[in-house]
Amino acid sequence: ADAGAQAPGRVLLAAPRGYCAGVDRAVIAVEKALALHGAPIYVRKEIVHNKYVVETLSDRGAIFVDETDEVPEGARVVFSAHGVSPAVVAAAEERSLQTIDATCPLVTKVHKEAVRFASEDYDILLIGHDGHEEVEGTAGEAPDHIQIVNSPDEVDKVVVRDPDKVIWISQTTLSVDETMETVRRLRERFPTLQDPPSDDICYATQNRQVAVKKLAPECDLVIVVGSTNSSNSVRLVEVALNAGARSSYLVDYAKEIDESWFEGVRTVGVTSGASVPEILVDEVLAYLAERGYGQVEEVRTATEDLMFSLPRELRADLKKAG
Ligand code: SF4
Repeated sequence: ADAGAQAPGRVLLAAPRGYCAGVDRAVIAVEKALALHGAPIYVRKEIVHNKYVVETLSDRGAIFVDETDEVPEGARVVFSAHGVSPAVVAAAEERSLQTIDATCPLVTKVHKEAVRFASEDYDILLIGHDGHEEVEGTAGEAPDHIQIVNSPDEVDKVVVRDPDKVIWISQTTLSVDETMETVRRLRERFPTLQDPPSDDICYATQNRQVAVKKLAPECDLVIVVGSTNSSNSVRLVEVALNAGARSSYLVDYAKEIDESWFEGVRTVGVTSGASVPEILVDEVLAYLAERGYGQVEEVRTATEDLMFSLPRELRADLKKAG
């Protein structure tokens, strides 16, 4: 085929995309801790679920561990944006670790709901992915009161003590549509099921899904930049496909893009998960431009200006350092 005869391809770039306030704060927390205290700084779990971020911080002296028992007694450890259960906090205390808690305030909000409704003796249905770090942390706040519901298909397995005293809460990074379907089915079983006091699926997750939904119907291909263990990034691929994109793939880096995806493709949608630095999106756009997809239009569905202050422990140390 004569490539020159092809109509120029077009790119629809979702906005908002990329970093949310919670990720920004968590990454800066590790950077500031390194600047203030020097390497190494230990980090329990991936600070945020992004390969590039973890590799970059490792190069600068962060040491990522799975559990606090891998951190030397008395050393400094950062808790990731996904949050930790009280058991993890206790284990860190036992080893006299100096902790910096980078849990996203919007995750902390869900923890507080769990604690409150457990103290009121509700059966709490936590909609979320079993095994995800955030879900482990939230469930750990009240293991006797919480059960995890992974998907609409699991609703029938739920067993509660009193069907009139049940509340649902959720992981922050789920598909809004699938979660609403789970809630609808739960409510069929428990008509008086209570809703959480406010949305648990966070603003960033919702905004990124709305933006990709808007552009997907016009796209032959949607490329989502993000890591495979990033819940909100994986959801963006699902949302794109459900909204009518002909195909959609998740990539960590531009180099993972496969030429075969472009067969018959005129419009490419691009977005990125909440843990993805913009440089990785820029690399994807450069890749696309080189292949004839150089005309970029932004599709914006919201503007975000939320910012969180740094973790308390760091603010105190920064103050001391002047
Ligand atoms: Fe916080 Fe939402 Fe970002 Fe998670 S995705 S860190 S809950 S703002």
